[in-house]
Amino acid sequence: MGDLGVAVVIEDDVDVRNLLDAVLQQAGFEVHSAGTGRDGVDVARQRQANVITLDVGLPDIDGFEVLRRIRQFSDAYIVMLTGRDEELDTITALQGGADDYIVKPFRPRELRARITAMLRRPRVASGDDAPSSEESGPVGSAGPAAAAGSRRGTVLQHNGLALDTETRTVALGGTPLGLTRSEFDLLHELLKGTGAVRTRADLVRVVRGEYYGEDTYISEADERAVEVHIGNLRRKLREDPQDPRWLVTVRGVGYRLAPKRAE
Ligand code: CA
Repeated sequence: MGDLGVAVVIEDDVDVRNLLDAVLQQAGFEVHSAGTGRDGVDVARQRQANVITLDVGLPDIDGFEVLRRIRQFSDAYIVMLTGRDEELDTITALQGGADDYIVKPFRPRELRARITAMLRRPRVASGDDAPSSEESGPVGSAGPAAAAGSRRGTVLQHNGLALDTETRTVALGGTPLGLTRSEFDLLHELLKGTGAVRTRADLVRVVRGEYYGEDTYISEADERAVEVHIGNLRRKLREDPQDPRWLVTVRGVGYRLAPKRAE
């Protein structure tokens, strides 16, 4: 038990809580749960959660406030559980740093698939990535040549931004940025391309993993969630919307990487 790490379930409905507990245990997590928002924050802190499921409607403080508090000390993967009528609010709440959300009632298989797909995502870029990143030239133009050379293929650099696929860290002008997993994965996807346009649906698959295959229906809400993640990224990168250095919106389609600048 506990192969995948620690999961914390924050949910006031006993039936749903037991279901989540069972699904996550079966998936291979050590599971702890809480029935109120305040307890949930405490348990997440004490147990050093890797994954958190967070109900939006809780009896004391709501899920959005719990999210805000947890994000002050944790970079756990957080999935918000929401009712259909709260869906739009919840998408907006991804701005608070949630990684994903699931609408109730949900299929246990969906929750499990989404979380385990995310956790199994390789933390290190595969060897196949190295040649293409050399060709497209994101490695080591402005940065220290020695550092880039010794870690070829693990650091993508673009207009002052450095993304390390091995440590899953991002730095801007040498200053580390705190990104959520979803933000990191989206940025990685765009940086490793050669500036080709990625549709919003493509990017939904990047965030959600293998459960969202080619033939899976992707809703407008799913795409809206990607837009919110991109908005968060832009804020953290302090992008100038008039003159973006990294993330360019392609209207009606998706996003692409801004061209490399001569600096
Ligand atoms: Ca509830």
